[in-house]
Amino acid sequence: MRLNYYYFLIIILMDIDFNIKNAINNLNIRLKKIENYLNNLYKAKLCDNCGNKIYNLKFKCMTCDYSVCKNCESNLHNIHNNTHIFMRIPINK
Ligand SMILES: [Zn+2]
Ligand SMILES: [Zn+2]
Repeated sequence: MRLNYYYFLIIILMDIDFNIKNAINNLNIRLKKIENYLNNLYKAKLCDNCGNKIYNLKFKCMTCDYSVCKNCESNLHNIHNNTHIFMRIPINK
C-alpha cells in the first residue's frame, strides 16, 4: 500500500519535472527569438529603397519588413504605404 503511494508520487513528480523542463525550453526558444529580433533591429542593413548602407539612423516600418535610410525617409510618402508607421532606430556600430 505504502509502496504504491510512493510510486504514484514519483509518477506525478516526473510529470511535473517534465512539464517544467518543457516550459523552460519553450521560454528559452521565445527569449532567443526576442534576442534575435532586438539584435537585428539595431543592426545596420541596406536601405530597401536606394540600396545604400544605413548609417546612424534607420527608419523601420512597423507593419512590414522594410527599412530606409535617412535620405529616403524624407521621400517616404512617395515610396511606401502612407498608413504605415515608421520607427526611428539608432544603429549600433
Ligand atoms: Zn535610402
Ligand atoms: Zn510598411
